[in-house]
Amino acid sequence: MPKLKDIFLEDSKIASDLKHRKTINFNISRYDESVKKGKLRYRNMELAKQRASYLKEKVVANLSEYLIEFEKNAQNNGIDIIWARDGDEAVSEIIDVLKENRAKVLVKSKSMISEEIELNENLEKAGFEPVETDLGEFIVQVAGEKPYHILTPAMHKSKEDVAELFNEKFNTPPNSTPEEITLFVRKKLRKKFTSAEIGVTGANFLVADVGGVALTENEGNGFMSVAFPKVHIVITGIEKVIPSINNLQLMFPLLSALGTGQQVTVYNSLLTGPKRQNESNGPEKMVVVLLDNKRSEIANEKEHYKALKCIRCGACLNTCPIYKNVGGYTYNTTYSGPIGSVITPFFKGFEEYNHLSFACTVCGACSEVCPVKIPLHDLLLLNRKKGVEQNLEKVSWNAGMKAYEWAFKKRKNLDIVNGKIKNTLVKTNKNILGEEKEFPAFAENSFSQNWKLNLK
Ligand code: SF4
Repeated sequence: MPKLKDIFLEDSKIASDLKHRKTINFNISRYDESVKKGKLRYRNMELAKQRASYLKEKVVANLSEYLIEFEKNAQNNGIDIIWARDGDEAVSEIIDVLKENRAKVLVKSKSMISEEIELNENLEKAGFEPVETDLGEFIVQVAGEKPYHILTPAMHKSKEDVAELFNEKFNTPPNSTPEEITLFVRKKLRKKFTSAEIGVTGANFLVADVGGVALTENEGNGFMSVAFPKVHIVITGIEKVIPSINNLQLMFPLLSALGTGQQVTVYNSLLTGPKRQNESNGPEKMVVVLLDNKRSEIANEKEHYKALKCIRCGACLNTCPIYKNVGGYTYNTTYSGPIGSVITPFFKGFEEYNHLSFACTVCGACSEVCPVKIPLHDLLLLNRKKGVEQNLEKVSWNAGMKAYEWAFKKRKNLDIVNGKIKNTLVKTNKNILGEEKEFPAFAENSFSQNWKLNLK
């Protein structure tokens, strides 16, 4: 189990890495500018958020009904539905589909669920070749890294970093521009699209009344992953279901406005099954893997069920003052930022991941920006409470908090010892603010003591 203190000290090193901070602040600031414009396109953004929140609330409250409706309609469209209780089941089902279709190479569009179940690693171990086709995902795959951000996987890399990486891996010119790199990747991936036997995508929404999978993307790689290979596998969490095709007019623009600031994302598809008899294009087979992985347990939680309303727009990460300083990798989880800190302890255990709920200043910026009105900072406080109830904190931490509570209750308690003793106590724990910062020295007397002395 990672030690809380060590994790925070590690974070403080990353927070002091000025190059890292400059890159993410630059990239996030570009998002901030476009999201500001995206919000202005709404006459009443608050109303749109309320509607989206209500819709997702209704979905989570009736999850099984909507999923059954989706399953029935999807099967009528010729889609195979696979239910997976956890990541292992999902991976093994996907491997079965690959084997049945004698597949070796699969092209993948961006899918955080596939990261959650470590699909690439598991497929590589089993001898398959998964190829990421989203540019950001491709960059991190080439670098041997994980996505840094749920929406922008390579946010931590500057254009110079990417040029250097591609020069090292593919011998492209060392000062390649983003346009040159994009063209290079485009050519490279085109061959993969046309030769891969399987295409894997995630789903932004599962549309119950039409039994279809809604996908929204900017690069067209998701659509190409569906169009060329003969089999299309969708891997998705069960919470992605929405009742009706009519809900897309609310959800698609909201997702793009808060995620990237666009009025609407470039490619929006509703995939309703493999190609029909009279159609010449499209996959011959379509499979949807519905992953639970503790989601049905979260749906039964008194307050935390709200986290299942998330549409993965990434806005809470971009606004979070902690994320902007420590960045995505510090969380050491698939889902980072405020939403990641809320759900990861449920997915992977409170004992190992509850320290994430302390990576929060409780400023509430995440809850304010969230398009589906998830009270993220409240849920983080509830996670802390769960940690205390489960007795997960170390004895020394609990004792320290008790001492802190006692000392700060009354001025008299704080003044029991003089400045010298306070400074000595702080020195015994010299990393209290991390290695990069000095704890300011206590004055000999406190303000109130000096005040009294001056009155005499
Ligand atoms: S919690 Fe809200 S703001 Fe954060 S990614 Fe999900 S929908 Fe977006």
